[in-house]
Amino acid sequence: MTNTRDDRYDYDLIVLGGGSGGLAVAFRAAQHGKRVVMLEPDELGGTCVNVGCVPKKAMWLAADLAGRIGLARAMGFDVPLRPSLSWKELVVHRQGYISNIHASYRKRLDESGVVRVPRRGRLVDAHTVECSDGVRVSGAHVVLATGAHPQRPDIPGAELGLVSDDFFNLCHAPAEVAIVGGGYIAVELGGLLQALGSRVTLLVRGSRLLDRFDGELAAQLAENLVQQGVRIEFNYRLRELQRDGDGKRVRVLGHDGPLDSVFDDVFFAIGRRGNSSDIGLEDVGVEVGDRGEVVVDAWQATAVPSVHAVGDIAGKVGLTPVAIAAARHLADRLFGGKPDAKMDYDNVPSVVFTHPPLGQVGLGEDEARERYGDVRVYRSSFRPMLQALADGTQRSLFKLVCAGPEERVVGVHLLGEAADEILQGFAVAVKMGATKAQFDATVAIHPTSSEEIVLMR
Ligand SMILES: Cc1cc2nc3c(=O)[nH]c(=O)nc-3n(C[C@H](O)[C@H](O)[C@H](O)COP(=O)(O)OP(=O)(O)OC[C@H]3O[C@@H](n4cnc5c(N)ncnc54)[C@H](O)[C@@H]3O)c2cc1C
Repeated sequence: MTNTRDDRYDYDLIVLGGGSGGLAVAFRAAQHGKRVVMLEPDELGGTCVNVGCVPKKAMWLAADLAGRIGLARAMGFDVPLRPSLSWKELVVHRQGYISNIHASYRKRLDESGVVRVPRRGRLVDAHTVECSDGVRVSGAHVVLATGAHPQRPDIPGAELGLVSDDFFNLCHAPAEVAIVGGGYIAVELGGLLQALGSRVTLLVRGSRLLDRFDGELAAQLAENLVQQGVRIEFNYRLRELQRDGDGKRVRVLGHDGPLDSVFDDVFFAIGRRGNSSDIGLEDVGVEVGDRGEVVVDAWQATAVPSVHAVGDIAGKVGLTPVAIAAARHLADRLFGGKPDAKMDYDNVPSVVFTHPPLGQVGLGEDEARERYGDVRVYRSSFRPMLQALADGTQRSLFKLVCAGPEERVVGVHLLGEAADEILQGFAVAVKMGATKAQFDATVAIHPTSSEEIVLMR
């Protein structure tokens, strides 16, 4: 603990939002002995726990099992061609898991002495927050951790579409689903709905999936999705949604006409916008960018010295571990005697939970060429053993991007079985600056998919 208590304020820290970033900054500040109040009008855990990573991964795991049941059948197990799933039972398991997380957060907040207020908050000046019931609290510091929300396009009939939050209210797999978007949330929802029994059409504005990931892997992923039965319309320009005859289904119309189809549900997965409106930012002089993000510097600081922002609202990398890491560094800087603590946004690993998953850490080929000029790429495309045994067609593609004469590994890109689990260890190696020669000198684990990473020549 460094800063001494400032009795001009009710608290040392006021946190707006009890999601990944808000909880992390509150816990860490409390560990440093600070008086903390956290406002959260909704369930604890925010997007990740309630309508993001956690319920999505539960559904992905179920979809993964569905795929494995198919492979088991192909290898001789006596299982029905279409085993039935009680979606409702799956949801009971999923929500039970989430309730346990809520309970554990409540316990930890109580134990750490963080005061929890179940209200929305709004800044009234640089040190004062008004709760939605009119009560005002003051703090030496305020951290904005209000997250982001899914966007809808500005087209006629947009209200007929759903967003990712609504996916978690489904009680069955809709028969025909359209998903508008080509980013990670679109392909994740598409892949898992297809595996759980829907017929999915992806409507993608651009000519490829996953703009922020390696192009070759994205192309292989598109091929895998198509093999799984997903229909993909690239270069699709959505014009309008209309209610279909019976009023229950939705008709989708494009600008260029090719798709005029009717779906049970249409999901928009076209991006997220920071939750920065109605929280008084304009009044205190906090700058907000085009995507509703709060403009912060490398230290998560806004232009107002007492106001800071972490997580999705800060508009950098929209991932839970990033929100948590940035929040902990901020609390260490403000209250823990570490004036230089800040989040390193380089080499953040991330995974897209498709079947199989796709993950990357570090630079893509083009970015590496721009930064280093001298770049060499190694790749391995193969059919993983389980697919081969079950006469499956799905392929994996792994790539290493290496830079400079010493061939430092600056990018690892994996699409394949267990890529989600494999990547974390290789992210450590990339962060440590490992070279291709060091990868080569590492003995392989045989027979696995991951051995391909140390056997590329
Ligand atoms: C479908 C989906 C899947 C995802 N999957 C992954 C994944 O697999 N891995 C991963 O790392 N990330 C994933 N993410 C992203 C991840 O969920 C977010 O990056 C993370 O939740 C951001 O945390 P946060 O604290 O910034 O915001 P949030 O978790 O959104 O929390 C913000 C909180 O602030 C509260 N709030 C809003 N306004 C106010 C106010 N005025 N006063 C008080 N409180 C307020 C909200 O109620 C909310 O609880 C996914 C996101 C989505 C949508």
